[in-house]
Amino acid sequence: MSDTSSTIFEQVKASFGAKTVNLEDKQELVNEVFAKSANTYDIMNDVMSAGLHRLWKDDMINWLAPPKGATSFKLLDVAGGTGDIAERFIKASGDGAKMVICDISPEMLDEGKRRAYDRGLEQDITFTEGNAEHLPFADKSFDAYTISFGIRNVPRIEQALKEAHRVLRTGGRFLCLEFSDVQMPFLDKLYDLYSFHTIPRLGELIANDRESYQYLVESIRRFPDQDDFADMIRHAGFSQVKYKNLTGGIAALHSGWRL
Ligand code: SAM
Repeated sequence: MSDTSSTIFEQVKASFGAKTVNLEDKQELVNEVFAKSANTYDIMNDVMSAGLHRLWKDDMINWLAPPKGATSFKLLDVAGGTGDIAERFIKASGDGAKMVICDISPEMLDEGKRRAYDRGLEQDITFTEGNAEHLPFADKSFDAYTISFGIRNVPRIEQALKEAHRVLRTGGRFLCLEFSDVQMPFLDKLYDLYSFHTIPRLGELIANDRESYQYLVESIRRFPDQDDFADMIRHAGFSQVKYKNLTGGIAALHSGWRL
């Protein structure tokens, strides 16, 4: 691994938004954020991104392109929260598809279960409480692993990437959707203004929780850019690592294979 990547590991490990916290404390703080925001999480996503997160998630499933027929295909969605990726996966795939959501937050999982029940999908999704750093699944047990807006919250990102590699079968696919580094002149300035001024205010207005949304914005800024994150994925053992920018790099979709 390059020196730049190891420095990034250290920064990410110790950051909770703009604050530096003990590595051990970060997960607890993150869990508090999602316990507080679980019941307004979906509406806040739509409002904050003006619905864009839906297009980005569609893109993730399009890139995954799960089989449509009876071919068996098992997806693990880590940090799956309220089930946006799971729902899209079920719609896009055939009878052979199996879907597991794993998330560390019981509150987010409860929202996901409630939503799945409302939409008649409760039979199609298995919900498991677990930590991305120590997945409660056997080696090589999934055909694909997705993580959407989750990895930024995990204290030991390199450990979560190793776990992703471990649970994927040989030939399995890793896909990660995450906020990234805006790479369009002007859009970056506009995005900064929107992120630091508008998002925390929206959090206060809609969810009565400015702090969690301040964390969200700051954690995005501390996350490695597209190329550094691609290096981290390679370092965990993945091959053919690529990424594509979404909406000028506001988000990026990274892909890799366990070969
Ligand atoms: N994937 C969903 C989406 O795209 O809308 C939810 C993303 S939400 C921003 C982040 C999720 O990561 C939360 O549900 C949180 O509980 C989960 N999370 C945070 N740390 C985690 C960890 N160490 N292991 C598993 N899930 C974690």
